[in-house]
Amino acid sequence: MNPIKAYAAASKTAPLELSSIHRRDPGPCDVQIEILFCGVCHSDLHTVRDEWGGTVYPCVPGHEIVGRVVKVGPEVKKVREGDLAGVGCLVDSCRNCGNCRDGFEQFCEEGAIFTYNAQDKHSGGVTYGGYAESIVVKESFVLRIPESLDLAATAPLLCAGITTYSPLRHWNVTAGQKVGVVGLGGLGHMAVKFAHAFGARVVLFTTSPGKTEDALRLGASEVVLSKNEAEMKQHASSFDFILDTVSAKHDINAYLNLLKRDGTLTLVGAPSEGLPIEAFNLISGRRQFAGSLIGGLPETQEMLDFCGEHGITCDIEMIRIQQINEAYERLLKSDVKYRFVIDMASLKG
Ligand code: NAP
Ligand code: ZN
Ligand code: ZN
Repeated sequence: MNPIKAYAAASKTAPLELSSIHRRDPGPCDVQIEILFCGVCHSDLHTVRDEWGGTVYPCVPGHEIVGRVVKVGPEVKKVREGDLAGVGCLVDSCRNCGNCRDGFEQFCEEGAIFTYNAQDKHSGGVTYGGYAESIVVKESFVLRIPESLDLAATAPLLCAGITTYSPLRHWNVTAGQKVGVVGLGGLGHMAVKFAHAFGARVVLFTTSPGKTEDALRLGASEVVLSKNEAEMKQHASSFDFILDTVSAKHDINAYLNLLKRDGTLTLVGAPSEGLPIEAFNLISGRRQFAGSLIGGLPETQEMLDFCGEHGITCDIEMIRIQQINEAYERLLKSDVKYRFVIDMASLKG
């Protein structure tokens, strides 16, 4: 199986290009997956361009991976050769600390091993993600994919799906609540779908007037253009919960003001610059400001099963791997409806 084809960036200013990487041979508890589709998360772009710091090159991003199991180690029980399987943002953790035992492997006290740009104890280098022909992952970090769903449109559930499902569940979003979603990109469009599926009345905040119709179709009851101050004011002190998915610097105070007493604004977007907060926007109304990071393995499987039962997938635009650099430029212009997914067959051609 070695070496295999992948798309990698050689530096923070270099485009992603065809390259070759090595994967380990599957051990007793490992699963080897031929990657069929891989979603394009804004975190891929942040990492490739070293916007958060700490990127090691060459960098092979991609953590919304679905494919077909081609080989399993003798001790593997969860999947068999020929099954569909998924890999999200995590490929390993200690499995023994309090957070791991509670099913929150993303907060592993020894340090979670992320799918790319993390220390790979097998190779001694860094982990390489899903913009590649195949991946080898420990069985416990492999997800079962519902057969009933369109496979390509399922891939982004592995990050965009769980990252929005988890906080909506944690903060108990239910019927009768007024819930805001800020930004209609990959994460935002899944937040709208899930909050609607949980019965909430959803208001979408966008900077893109052209996304209004789509937001209503996806499950929002109302769309607010966030640059319009008068429209924003109409919603003052009225939200139970707001999920902010914005990838760039923006005014968070404008949203804190929209929470009612004891309401929570949770950040999942991860801009590289700080977001200043006015103290009075928190202390008036005892408002809460929080954050959330992807989700652990048990909840990711729960989310996938929920999507299988309710027929929920992502709205995607399929691209060939050769279009990836252009796709990144479009992401920066908020021009994606609503997740790019790479057809990995294009890597073979
Ligand atoms: P995306 O598809 O590019 O969507 C981001 C959306 O934010 C855009 O579509 C746009 O929505 C809005 N936006 C962009 N620039 C803006 C600006 N300057 N001011 C206001 N709004 C702006 O990105 P994504 O893949 O959904 O990821 C979003 C963020 O979440 C990224 O920072 C990513 O790294 C982070 N993330 C975090 C986690 C986690 O675990 N917490 C997991 C995955 C991703 P409108 O056009 O509607 O305004
Ligand atoms: Zn992601
Ligand atoms: Zn741990």
